[in-house]
Amino acid sequence: MIPAPAGGTGPAPEARVYRVPMRTRFRGITVRDGVLVRGPAGWGEFSPFWDYDVAESRRWWAAAEEAALAGWPAPVRASVPVNVTVPAVEPARAHGIVTASGCRTAKVKVAEPGQTPEEDLARVEAVRDALGPDGAIRVDANAAWDVDTAVARIRALDRMGLEYVEQPCATLAELAALRRRVDVRVAVDEGVRRSDDPLRVDLREAADVVVLKVQPLGGVRAALRVAEAHGLPCVVSSALESSVGIAAGVALAAALPELPFACGLATVALLAEDVTSSPLLPVDGALPVTRVEPDRLEEVAADPVTRARWRARLAAVVAS
Ligand SMILES: [Mg+2]
Repeated sequence: MIPAPAGGTGPAPEARVYRVPMRTRFRGITVRDGVLVRGPAGWGEFSPFWDYDVAESRRWWAAAEEAALAGWPAPVRASVPVNVTVPAVEPARAHGIVTASGCRTAKVKVAEPGQTPEEDLARVEAVRDALGPDGAIRVDANAAWDVDTAVARIRALDRMGLEYVEQPCATLAELAALRRRVDVRVAVDEGVRRSDDPLRVDLREAADVVVLKVQPLGGVRAALRVAEAHGLPCVVSSALESSVGIAAGVALAAALPELPFACGLATVALLAEDVTSSPLLPVDGALPVTRVEPDRLEEVAADPVTRARWRARLAAVVAS
């Protein structure tokens, strides 16, 4: 166990707080920050979003501890195919993001508060235009729709051809009802990672695909157990981490026995800066399986107020 870096008399582990702007507002945030900790196995990332409480942040800390102390299971593949992530931007910008990425799969944010269905449709059309007919498009509604709305929106968006729709409704009962009315695959994200017990949540009627995220599920090994428990195809996605945290997601994707879909791990492109001079950005639509050495910690160091907030938060999580 790495003690909280806030104090104590033992040897202080190396813990550094980073803070970087986002290129585009995403998930309602414009700045990303978190703690990087170093242990004998390497660097780990602890970066629960600020709207997560101590109880929910415990699994995020377990993931950082695993990375720093234990390392990750052996990979079964050397690189991981990834999707480009398209925020809720206007069509021309969406087209440009996809074209610049080199990825053959795009995940498009839809149902952004304050935007219209027509804006979603125009964005997805632009992405289809950029990818061509052979590319794959998935959309993520982050639980914004009720069942009837989801049916209507998904049917409209599926004219562009959808690989799957991620968390269109909030509850598993709604997802199950939706699945009886649309042909597009449904992926569950929040319904697993924000549940009290991701291993026992019953997905049989509610999902075709499970989204796995390392920090919210408590580490690479914990996420592998979730994958095994549900027996459904899995996609590994990020929690908008720096490259240190993304490396854990890549390790999970590299260790899964089957990986039928591109993963949502190309999100470092959404950050204006990174903690390393060798960021985990896709080349030809894939990320390499590697550990990351954060050699830009000075450049991305958080201000004292942010550092103090993270120290207090980490101490509360470790003590809980
Ligand atoms: Mg999602």
